[in-house]
Amino acid sequence: MSADGIKCDVAVVGGGPAGSTLGTFLAKYGPNLDVRIFEAEVFPRDHVGESQLPNISEFLHEMGVWEKVEAAGFPVKVGGTFKWGMKRDLWHFSFLQDELKEIPRPAEFAGQRRQTAFHVDRSVYDKILLDHAEEVGCKVYQGARIQKVLTDDDCVMGLRTASGEAITARYYVDATGHRGTIRTAFDVPCEYPTALQNVAFWGYWQNAEWPENIGIGGTRAQIMSLPYGWVWFFPISQTRTSVGLVLPASYYKESRQRPEELYQQALKQEPRINYLLTGAAYEGQLSTTKDWSFLASRIYGANWFLAGESAGFADPILSAGMTITQACARELAFTILELERGEHDPVWLLDEYQRLQSNRVRSHIKFADFWYTSNGQFEDLKEYTRQIAKWNGLDLSPNDAWTWLARGGFIDDDFAPGFGTFHIQGIRELSEYMDPVKAEHPFNHKNVFRLNLDGAQVVSRARYVGGRVVKIECYERDGKILPLIGAYEVIVDLLRQTTRMMEMVQSLKQLLSSLHPNMAQRLATEFPSYFWAMVESGWITASRDPAAPLIPINMQRQWWAMEWHKDKKEALRKIAKADGSTAGTI
Ligand SMILES: Cc1cc2nc3c(=O)[nH]c(=O)nc-3n(C[C@H](O)[C@H](O)[C@H](O)COP(=O)(O)OP(=O)(O)OC[C@H]3O[C@@H](n4cnc5c(N)ncnc54)[C@H](O)[C@@H]3O)c2cc1C
Repeated sequence: MSADGIKCDVAVVGGGPAGSTLGTFLAKYGPNLDVRIFEAEVFPRDHVGESQLPNISEFLHEMGVWEKVEAAGFPVKVGGTFKWGMKRDLWHFSFLQDELKEIPRPAEFAGQRRQTAFHVDRSVYDKILLDHAEEVGCKVYQGARIQKVLTDDDCVMGLRTASGEAITARYYVDATGHRGTIRTAFDVPCEYPTALQNVAFWGYWQNAEWPENIGIGGTRAQIMSLPYGWVWFFPISQTRTSVGLVLPASYYKESRQRPEELYQQALKQEPRINYLLTGAAYEGQLSTTKDWSFLASRIYGANWFLAGESAGFADPILSAGMTITQACARELAFTILELERGEHDPVWLLDEYQRLQSNRVRSHIKFADFWYTSNGQFEDLKEYTRQIAKWNGLDLSPNDAWTWLARGGFIDDDFAPGFGTFHIQGIRELSEYMDPVKAEHPFNHKNVFRLNLDGAQVVSRARYVGGRVVKIECYERDGKILPLIGAYEVIVDLLRQTTRMMEMVQSLKQLLSSLHPNMAQRLATEFPSYFWAMVESGWITASRDPAAPLIPINMQRQWWAMEWHKDKKEALRKIAKADGSTAGTI
């Protein structure tokens, strides 16, 4: 580092997934910006958080790094196996509707591989991402811990590394994970919107069995609940497996046992994990952390931003941490680039960034709480689950709250019906296992539908595409949104023409036949879920005209696909039966 100190446009503190993703997107879409990343450690270094969701693959592709991650040979995550919920036997879910094809690796980012995720050894993954950020134009400093954040009012005036180097920049980003170096310098208060306080103990094992070998290099995450917590089992390379135990902090305290004792006991006690670890060698070092979900009360200041886990964290049961982190870093990069262009109102840009990140983390925290409640072993959360539904204007029992969730009770800030980054179809599949859902699609018993925009206001919401922040018109009422894009826009247009289901179906068919087949398929798939979510959130009122026919919709079809890997013939039989029995399926 130079004796005069470093001057740059963007100083990023922390070189984990948030810092490297942000740096890569800034370099890709704003090549004239001088971006510097300061990382305390020298990579490779271990880090918890190894099981990804498929959305990350899209980010990696856009960053131009998917091929490098694929070439590292990480296990392909095609879904998960759970022991959870009301059923105590194992249940499986898959990101794919078919078996993973036997495509040799390294594969291309195409077909099925667009819908799968990775289980990553973070010592390798984080280094690939940080090296990539450097390759595309960021200057990276490793072993450069930021020790001091110089502040004046709400401004960062400069940074100092542990070795005394001075850094000044136009924008400062805190990507330091849970440490929150800039967040703590400004004493930003954090919320803890959950009753759940867990601790996690984890270690690494060599040569454990893989629970399943699917296609080439594919497997499933294992989440096994115990009477007092749960165990994760993630193969993260051909030979290395991450195994962790999560349990309530209160249980840990009252047990008066050491983490190592509790950890080893739990792995022995859980039969599937015990079996998979027979013959495996423990690397011998147990890591521990408290994993309490939190949310920073503000995530930007006069010239600084929080990105990734420094802005908030949701319980690891959903394996969503890195997805939230990398989405957040991407959106911050696009926000900074728009601030530079000066075409949008900066207050709108910043408020959109804050609103989206906070709502996303909050949604994931709520969803994690639902998840724990439905395990039947976290009794103290039951009342809280009701509270979640109440916040959304409903007075429901915990079980009914799950049913409501599975119906896609509202439209999410990511413009999809669901919860955080979880699409409604996935939630339905989960709730089917957690607590059987009795909900029926409105098409099955209603045939007159009216658009209800009473009292709604038109607002602009941000959408992040191709390095730009685009304004999307939405209706907003009582904190709920109806975005005027994609399937929603089509539904609004159709309902402006007619209230009759049959007429709507005819118009939809005409529209589908005029679209590119991929677009048509996507719209046809999204239409029923999006329509249902609009009914649930009050944008559509539904009634029945006994003189007009019903058009029952088949929501079962995708559920059977979950069973596919277990018994293909049976799944095919069920799909054929479900299709055959449904008149007029869209
Ligand atoms: C128990 C547990 C289990 C989890 N399981 C999952 C999972 O299965 N799937 C998932 O997606 N997520 C999981 N997560 C979440 C995941 O770990 C985080 O979402 C992710 O690591 C956040 O990335 P980040 O870049 O924001 O922070 P980090 O990955 O923590 O990176 C921050 C970086 O900043 C550096 N740094 C810190 N302070 C300074 C400083 N002062 N100066 C310079 N550098 C600094 C650190 O060395 C580090 O490299 C889990 C988390 C926990 C606690």
